[in-house]
Amino acid sequence: MKIVVLKFGGTSVGTIDRIKKVANIISTYKKKGYQVVVVSSAMSGYTNDLIKKSEKVAENFKKSEYDTLVSAGEQISCSLIAGRLSHIGHFSKSMMGWQIPIYTDDNYSNAKIKSVNTSKIKEYLKQGGIPIIAGFQGIDKNERITTLGRGGSDYSAIVLAKYLKAIKCVIYTDVIGVMTTDPKVYKRARKIKVISYEEMLEMSSLGSKVMQSNSVQDARLNRIDVSVKSSFVKNVGTLITKRKNIIDHKVITGISVTKSDSKITLVGVVDRPGVAASVFEPLSVNNINVDMVVQNISADGHKTDITFTINSKDLNKTQKLIKYNKRIKFKKVIFDQNVSKISIIGVGMITTPGVTFRMFQALSKKNINILAISTSEIKISVLINRKNIRKAVATLHKEFKLD
Ligand code: ASP
Ligand code: MG
Repeated sequence: MKIVVLKFGGTSVGTIDRIKKVANIISTYKKKGYQVVVVSSAMSGYTNDLIKKSEKVAENFKKSEYDTLVSAGEQISCSLIAGRLSHIGHFSKSMMGWQIPIYTDDNYSNAKIKSVNTSKIKEYLKQGGIPIIAGFQGIDKNERITTLGRGGSDYSAIVLAKYLKAIKCVIYTDVIGVMTTDPKVYKRARKIKVISYEEMLEMSSLGSKVMQSNSVQDARLNRIDVSVKSSFVKNVGTLITKRKNIIDHKVITGISVTKSDSKITLVGVVDRPGVAASVFEPLSVNNINVDMVVQNISADGHKTDITFTINSKDLNKTQKLIKYNKRIKFKKVIFDQNVSKISIIGVGMITTPGVTFRMFQALSKKNINILAISTSEIKISVLINRKNIRKAVATLHKEFKLD
């Protein structure tokens, strides 16, 4: 029989009314003849609340106790769902990570799943039951409870889909799917019907927060089709799948924007082998992620300019690290906090020539200056002044026919 894994996020199970709705959704799959496995997050706010409690008890709350504590929200939501399903006539029970068990390593608060024993789940499915499995949790080899990182129930769902050889995994959330761009930035953003894993990875690492990005990577490695849909309105959502399954590629699938970049330019850096390494080594040692990097050719062979971007949250630290870096000599340094990165993403650009040109021309027609550029096989990113973001998104959305 065909197994589906349905995952519900925190807002989807955020109130008693919503839990009743979720039970009805689960019921429709069961009535269609599927074997249904449910994975749930905690009711929204519960995990945050538990984390706050740990902070009030101790500054450095014991790591293994932390996971036992913050995983508790899922026990509540899962038993409520199972209770409701039983009430409306189904055979259902909650299952915590330790009861299955889902084995992980012992990297508390950010553990990785090592294996899942599927026998109890399969047995229960055979009896016609609907197991409601706690997302976000497992146990280590010493049987201590572990958690999988914030948003980790997506990860639980994908891994369960893999171990159970499910025909699909549906992520129920509070948005109608993956959007062509941020609807808060551009009103005419549309829902994307189909997207490849690779594009989805770019979109989520660039700020589209529909799914935890590690989970997208796990789905890709295991070739699991994932649908993202709303638990509030009935619609088909977005299918995340392999490229081969997508027949009608658009040139560009989506546009993402980041809102908190800062640009740093070192002017007149003495150019000798190893200078770039000397600039970036202290940043890497301090876990500061450098995004775009541009180094000019030195006209005179002695001096060059180096520009790079970081997340603005790291700006203070970066300023200090540059100031106290004795290994580089430069004329001056310029910091700019008012920049944003806008990226167009699409596997279609691999086979379509001229995409870069179209992007640059469209921006130039609107008088938007490009400060830095970076590209990958399926993505072109440009850095622009933050005040131009809305204009730039609207222009590119139209240019690539996403409206
Ligand atoms: N409840 C956990 C969290 O808030 C896991 C999840 O929502 O996926 O991070
Ligand atoms: Mg969540």
